Amino acid sequence: MSQERGAFLSSDLSCLKVRVGCERCKLKRQFDGNALIDRVGRNEPLPGLLTRIAVGLGCDLNIAPTPNGLRCAMRYEYPTGWDLKGLR
Ligand SMILES: [Zn+2]
Repeated sequence: MSQERGAFLSSDLSCLKVRVGCERCKLKRQFDGNALIDRVGRNEPLPGLLTRIAVGLGCDLNIAPTPNGLRCAMRYEYPTGWDLKGLR
């Protein structure tokens, strides 16, 4: 009841390696899911968490779209066997 339909939370990252990447910024990082949970708590929706990660990595495109509308393309790269299609 407390969880929106289809909403993934940071608690879903427990014990996973989480890979994110942005083609536009040429960034790729891997995080430990438990470490992320330590930082943001267990109830952070994953789309919002992704924004926080992008900002933390210095992706300006995420905060302020450039005049031509270019925005950060940071996304989760799926850990093997883990379906996160709803997060794009
Ligand atoms: Zn970016």
